[in-house]
Amino acid sequence: MSEYLIPSAELRARVALEKHGFRHSHSLGQNFLLDEGLLSRLLDAAEVAAGENILEIGPGAGVMTALMARRSGRVLAYELDAKLMPVLSEVLDGLDNVEIVNADFLKARDVGDRVRGAFDGQPYRVVANLPYYITADILLKLASLPQPPESICIMVQREAADRIMSGPGSKQWCALAATLRYYGEARVLEEVPPECFDPPPHVTSCFIRIDRWREPPVRPKDEKLFLRLINAAFAMRRKTLANNLKAAFGLDQAAALAVLESAGLDPLVRGESLELDQLCRVADALSGML
Ligand code: SAM
Repeated sequence: MSEYLIPSAELRARVALEKHGFRHSHSLGQNFLLDEGLLSRLLDAAEVAAGENILEIGPGAGVMTALMARRSGRVLAYELDAKLMPVLSEVLDGLDNVEIVNADFLKARDVGDRVRGAFDGQPYRVVANLPYYITADILLKLASLPQPPESICIMVQREAADRIMSGPGSKQWCALAATLRYYGEARVLEEVPPECFDPPPHVTSCFIRIDRWREPPVRPKDEKLFLRLINAAFAMRRKTLANNLKAAFGLDQAAALAVLESAGLDPLVRGESLELDQLCRVADALSGML
């Protein structure tokens, strides 16, 4: 068949959504991107290249999935909504390098195994237009996988992009930003206005890229404890770090102050003012006490 007779992924998606009587669910964050021109530009900005392995979360109607499958090596995609399965199989028909898993990405316990199986243990990247209400949870899960992605290119609300890009001392600096700073370096690739989505969300979006560090900026003695400490440090923003340590790790006042002293920090310091290396020193001091 001439390539001019093959319907575009966008057309296939629109026809399949209509045919299956699909209704967007607000509670699943279903704001779709169907415009192939825009999606191709985003994939160019993300530098999605031939032979690359891609993990996608929330393929929706699968237009971006189809474009990625044509450019890259293998695509593994997690979609929670069973009503999208017939749509996806029609839109992705003929693309044999795509695997769709109908599951909740956050609840799935086998993500690490599936990723290893799909990509033969080779490096992979994440490219996705995510449901915004679980952006932080998805990012934290990705960063703590046994084999994390080499880079993460995702759509987020501008507010979330500002938080992710923030640093110590700013009001935006939070557990998510600190955890991602440990994982890699983030930048905005493109701002995307609401009218590009179907249906349009109430917020402006940013397509961002986070590249994993080749060498981590800090090397905590116990990584799990370090990640727990980051969460604890920002848990109650108006409290001092000593009080947050007491609440999260069951320390008494003397032990909490001893941790801070051994990390070389002021007893009244607040978690949100700390750089990554200072948070690492606190976690290392804590590891000798628990
Ligand atoms: N990527 C598609 C696009 O750009 O048109 C859809 C994007 S839409 C913002 C988010 C998608 O994530 C929806 O298809 C929704 O059903 C799916 N989703 C929501 N929660 C999910 C979860 N926990 N695990 C996997 N997929 C999820």
